[in-house]
Amino acid sequence: MRIDVDGLSVIFPYEFIYPEQYYYMLQLKRTLDARGHCLLEMPSGTGKTASLLSLVIAYVKAYPSQLEKLIYCSRTIPEISKVVEELRHLCDSYEKETGESLNIVGLAMSARKNMCIHPEVSKLRLGKIVDGHCLSLTSSFVRARRLDDPSIPCCNYFEEFMEEGVESALPRGVYNLDDLKAYGRRMGWCPYFVARHALLRADVIVYSYHYLLDPKIAELISKDLSRRSVVVFDEAHNIDNVCIESLSVTLKKRTIERCQENLESLQKFVKETKERDVAHLDREYKRLVEGLREAKHLRDTDKILANPVLPDDILEEAVPGSIRNAEHFIAFLRRFLNYVKHRMSSNSVMIENPAVFLSDVQIRTAIERKPLRFCSERLASLLRTLELSDTSNFAPLILLANFATLVSTYAKGFCLLFEPFDEKLPTVPNPVMTFSCMDASIAIRPVFHRFQSVLITSGTLSPLDMYPKILNFDPAVMASFSMTLARPCILPLIVAKGNDQITMTSKFEARDDTSVIRNYGTLLLELSRIVPDGIVCFFTSYMYMENTVAFWYKQGIIDRIMKNKLLFIETQDIIETSLALQNYIKACENGRGAILLSVARGKVSEGVDFSDHLGRAVVMLGVPYVYTESRIIRARLEYLRDQFNIKENDFLTFDAMRQAAQCVGRALRNKTDYGLMIFADKRYSRSDKREKLPKWIQEQLSASNLDLSIEEALQISRRWLRTMAQPFTQNDQLGISMLNQTQITDEQMKRKLTNEAYLMELQ
Ligand code: SF4
Repeated sequence: MRIDVDGLSVIFPYEFIYPEQYYYMLQLKRTLDARGHCLLEMPSGTGKTASLLSLVIAYVKAYPSQLEKLIYCSRTIPEISKVVEELRHLCDSYEKETGESLNIVGLAMSARKNMCIHPEVSKLRLGKIVDGHCLSLTSSFVRARRLDDPSIPCCNYFEEFMEEGVESALPRGVYNLDDLKAYGRRMGWCPYFVARHALLRADVIVYSYHYLLDPKIAELISKDLSRRSVVVFDEAHNIDNVCIESLSVTLKKRTIERCQENLESLQKFVKETKERDVAHLDREYKRLVEGLREAKHLRDTDKILANPVLPDDILEEAVPGSIRNAEHFIAFLRRFLNYVKHRMSSNSVMIENPAVFLSDVQIRTAIERKPLRFCSERLASLLRTLELSDTSNFAPLILLANFATLVSTYAKGFCLLFEPFDEKLPTVPNPVMTFSCMDASIAIRPVFHRFQSVLITSGTLSPLDMYPKILNFDPAVMASFSMTLARPCILPLIVAKGNDQITMTSKFEARDDTSVIRNYGTLLLELSRIVPDGIVCFFTSYMYMENTVAFWYKQGIIDRIMKNKLLFIETQDIIETSLALQNYIKACENGRGAILLSVARGKVSEGVDFSDHLGRAVVMLGVPYVYTESRIIRARLEYLRDQFNIKENDFLTFDAMRQAAQCVGRALRNKTDYGLMIFADKRYSRSDKREKLPKWIQEQLSASNLDLSIEEALQISRRWLRTMAQPFTQNDQLGISMLNQTQITDEQMKRKLTNEAYLMELQ
């Protein structure tokens, strides 16, 4: 259908539209008009992607001189595929509606591991290994050697691409990863390089966050994308953590041991190369005198994706004399490694500022800051010169070099933490050194600066006002939309006590209280009796889950639950968890019913949807506070307090509530779906917690449901489940939570929606 959004004609790819989608498009258009950034929270399952794509594509068509490109960042491969399929659907609808083709290039991009079609390399599973094997077939020096010795293996897909594909443009259309692979097979070209070359011309790019946020990758993939782009970070409730991880490095004892081995082999390779062709190393030396910029342009394919951010000026500079010679550089790395080893042998926990660390390095080893900054680039250059195409074996040394570059490049917003023992088991020696970023705004700053508009969006961003502070930006629009419902399809309940009136809470002091654990067990047992099909139950941590389940087992609660439903448990092992998940789905589909025990911040809470019968109830046992004894967390809290004036408690509550909302939000994936959302902890009743939940959940949380006992919650749930089980059709929603073409073009309705959309804006 065609709709008018504040004067912009938008082709919407469905016959019906939710009011939320209209609000969303309206606010997005305002952002694009203002060429600013925005934060939009839209209820789960209300068609955010379709609204976003329709509006942005319409905008690009209407104002090509103002906006050229959509860069859509998502987190997982299934999510990326979903976005591309939605785009395909939009293109088809556009053609049907207008009789013309949309004529765009839209494509998904991912790592080699997900795109490779080489018969052997594609069978390898780990990303680093696939990269390494690919490079050993495609590096420029391997190709140069092959000119003399044709028996050296190559990748025909790459060779064919370099011969014919580089110059030709990807035909207009929408390409998922599988489409790119099929295209690559048809043409005999490597899909990964086809996609990389097509990025600049593509109108819509869909890829992972890391291609923009991780400086190690962003430099290579996304550097030349047009400024007149809108960047979308979808499912962005944890974006600050992604930013922080992308700039942090952890060195463990094992890494350090392997660095030692790496240095030995590097030394051997240098010696062999010298004996074979001394001029080779001399040429590198001369090149390094010229600076790195030239080296950067030399070979497009050789570079592995491991190049920490170096300020542009550094790339223009000559590499410092002390590390230009290969042997000197190895000796330099060895000295630095010995220093790191020495620091990690300390018996006490220490937190240090990078400036203090660097000055200590200089005093003890006479290593200055400047050559340290070049370590990562210098090592990459040496590996290239030695023609070591498969660098996956050198991953530990590359990590050490990255660490050296980062620690000497950044000072503010980072800290170094030395921990001699395992954090949770203080008697087990396990030395770890972490270079930790505490300021999420550092990694995302270039994105805000480089692109015209950045949209941060998710179903659970509340409380919204925290993001501009921690990401340090000024949004043009900030809005949280409510959910229009023809029937109350979510029922949030706060269960604060057991039937024995004992307060339910996961508070640290009550963790071992057996009556609380028993009450949690009773709640789950009773729910297993009345809720049909699937229940997902989240714990605050793995340890808490293990202890609680062990107690339930001893008390016979598990046996009683199993009479009603099968039980599956998420573990830290991904393969085990996906097996548990498959069987959970099977049990829900065949009518046996199941409960999945899971953990907030785990894989299930982030990436799995439990639509319809797969999640008729989601239970959050406790408030999922982060482990506050963690030293890294403590350092970050201090930094947030000193730099951004964010109180410790405010941040911790914000973080816990976004995790809780994320968990319970798994239950609802569309408006015909329905699900119970149970917050089982007394603390949710308090306004400082409750008011941090997304608006669309808060609005369904009635005052009478804030402080329930198990029995009261069960009675309300029983009644509600009976109502929800009644037939519910699309017609029941029309005009209330769903609008057709006539309704959405009605001027009065549009005025009403526009007013509502503005009311949902946060000042
Ligand atoms: S060039 Fe492409 S197809 Fe060949 S090995 Fe590398 S990723 Fe695979």
